[in-house]
Amino acid sequence: MNLLRRPVRDEEPVLPPAPPPPASTLATDFGDQWCSFRGCGQKTGLACGYVDRHERACPTAWCPQHRYISNDAVYCPTHGRFLDGTHDEFRRTVHVDIGNVVPMVLAWIVQEVDAEVAAEMTELAAWWHQALVIDPVRFTLVGVQRVRTWERAWKVCDELGPTLRLAVVIEEAEPGVAEARIQSKTVLRLPIPWHENHGFGEWPGSPEQAKAAVASFRGRLLAVLLDGVASWQHEHSASPGSHVTGGGAAGPEPDGGGLDVASATWHVRSVRPGAGG
Ligand SMILES: [Zn+2]
Ligand SMILES: [Zn+2]
Repeated sequence: MNLLRRPVRDEEPVLPPAPPPPASTLATDFGDQWCSFRGCGQKTGLACGYVDRHERACPTAWCPQHRYISNDAVYCPTHGRFLDGTHDEFRRTVHVDIGNVVPMVLAWIVQEVDAEVAAEMTELAAWWHQALVIDPVRFTLVGVQRVRTWERAWKVCDELGPTLRLAVVIEEAEPGVAEARIQSKTVLRLPIPWHENHGFGEWPGSPEQAKAAVASFRGRLLAVLLDGVASWQHEHSASPGSHVTGGGAAGPEPDGGGLDVASATWHVRSVRPGAGG
C-alpha cells in the first residue's frame, strides 16, 4: 500500500485495476497453500472445494495454473472432472468420497509418470499417424465380476479404436497396490509408497526413505509403461508408414483376460488409409 502513496499528477490518478467479474476471479486468485501438482513450486494454491458426504474435505490445493474451476468453485482436477460429469455413464453409481482415497492416490501416481508417458505416446501417435487420447482418472467396473476399479489410460487410436492402450489402475479392494496394464493385461503390480500429496500408506520413517521409495516406485512404473510403448513399436515397425495389413497374427489378443473395461475395446489394426509418409 505504501508503495502507492507517492505523489501523482492530478491528471493521472492511480486507480486500482478494475476487478474482473466475480465469477471469473477464481481462475486467477492467489491462495496461500502449496500447489499439489507434482513439481509445481507455487504457494498460490486454493484448496479443492470438494467435501464428501461425511463432510471431509479434499486435502489438496491448487495454484491458478493447475486448478480446475467448475460451478464457481476451485477443485483439484480429479474432483472437478467428477463433478463436471465427464463420466456420465457412471455418475449415478459412483460416489466419490474422501474416505475413498483411491482416486486421489491414482491422480498422484499419474502426475508422477504422465509427462514421460504422454511424450512417448505422442511421438508414437505422430509416427503412426494416429491420435493420442488421454482419459482422465475415472471409475470403471471391470469384467463380469464388476470389479470396482479406478484407472487412467493413455491411448493411441486409429479410426477403429485404440491400437495401444496403457493404463495405471487401482482396484478399490486393493487400494495399496498400483497396477500397470498394457492392452488391459496387468504387467506390473507395485505397492504404493507414501507421499505427502496423498498421505496414504505407511510413513517410511524418514524423508530420505520416503523419497527413495517414491523414486523407486516411479522408476519401475515408468519403465514398464515405456517398455510397453517400445515393444509395441518394435512389433509394428517393420515398415512405419505402410502399416501391416491383414490379421496381425502376432498381435496381442484383445480382451484375452476377459476384461471388460468400459469403452476400452481396442482393435489390432486392420484397415488403414494410405498413411505412407
Ligand atoms: Zn501448480
Ligand atoms: Zn479434490
